[in-house]
Amino acid sequence: MEELKFEELELCPEILKAVKHMGFEEASPIQSKAIPVIMSGKDVIGQAQTGTGKTAAFGIPLLEKIDPKNKKLQAIVLCPTRELAIQVAEEIRNLAKYMHGIKVLPIYGGQEIVKQIRSLKSGTQLVIGTPGRVMDHMRRKTMKMDHVHTIVLDEADEMLNMGFREDIETILEGIPQEHQTVLFSATMPKAILEITKQFQTNAELVKVTKKELTVPNIEQFYYEVKPKNKEEVLSRLLDIYTPKLSVVFCNTKKQVDLLVNGLLGRGYFAAGLHGTGFAQRHHHRLPPCAALLAHGHHSRLSAQGGGQPALQRHQVFFQRQPHHPHHGCCRRAACAADQRRGHRYDRGAESPGL
Ligand code: AMP
Repeated sequence: MEELKFEELELCPEILKAVKHMGFEEASPIQSKAIPVIMSGKDVIGQAQTGTGKTAAFGIPLLEKIDPKNKKLQAIVLCPTRELAIQVAEEIRNLAKYMHGIKVLPIYGGQEIVKQIRSLKSGTQLVIGTPGRVMDHMRRKTMKMDHVHTIVLDEADEMLNMGFREDIETILEGIPQEHQTVLFSATMPKAILEITKQFQTNAELVKVTKKELTVPNIEQFYYEVKPKNKEEVLSRLLDIYTPKLSVVFCNTKKQVDLLVNGLLGRGYFAAGLHGTGFAQRHHHRLPPCAALLAHGHHSRLSAQGGGQPALQRHQVFFQRQPHHPHHGCCRRAACAADQRRGHRYDRGAESPGL
């Protein structure tokens, strides 16, 4: 199936304006396939992985379906991790930028529950949450399910891997009989098929293949480098690739400051971003222990509010991120408009710190 223009999807003008503002030119394959089916009200199984645009594929139909005048909870998205819940909420908020009266709230464990209860009471229609915390609110009756008409299971295979099956079942059993269930999963193991059989009715399968990623051609490298040589190697890479913008992740603020000073001393334009500044305001985009360093057009990074397009250009993980396996790699990606690369400097045998 061809990729569609967003204008062909019969979306409201506010969403069309938002996708334009977000820089999406045409709908991705999963969006072209899933949006019409989800908007028709059918149960849907979406087989798609991160990077395909799956969030907007279910986020747009959710926003189309939510009645802004009704201040009751109307839809829930379940996600495996707090990071994903925050990211999904952010993407949907961006999509809802020009809509009035829609409140989207991420709900996850580890965050003060009283604050969440206050936000829930103030008229949230869409909750993006992790299963444990959503169940907690259901039990406390601080999340009322009577008006919930849609539930999305995002990264369902991950949720099952993390042991959320019972929680998911309890939540699905707790919402009104008449509802639409949308399930997204990168893989379709038996356990997922069981969930779809048990909780979906005549579900339609939409899937995309790997080559249909919106962020294609990521190349990843790592270099085994002695700690004392890391700065030198980074400098050489900057000279070889001359990226417009790079983001370097370090483990500590001190490491960022050391590296900034080192690079400035070598004549590069570099700025440290951490602590009470940029990194904290955009904490959800960064691994919790990371600090950030911009090289090149720093002003551009700030001007875009730290948005994804800038961050994706050239990422370097200067130190190992032992607690964040998905950040333990680096990216080098080439797309039509720009070059994106990723490198990681580490010596497996050595300690993560410099
Ligand atoms: P996801 O698969 O939802 O995690 O999306 C991956 C990235 O693609 C996110 O940064 C989205 O904002 C972006 N994205 C989603 N839809 C589109 C689109 N139609 N065109 C370009 N980028 C998109």
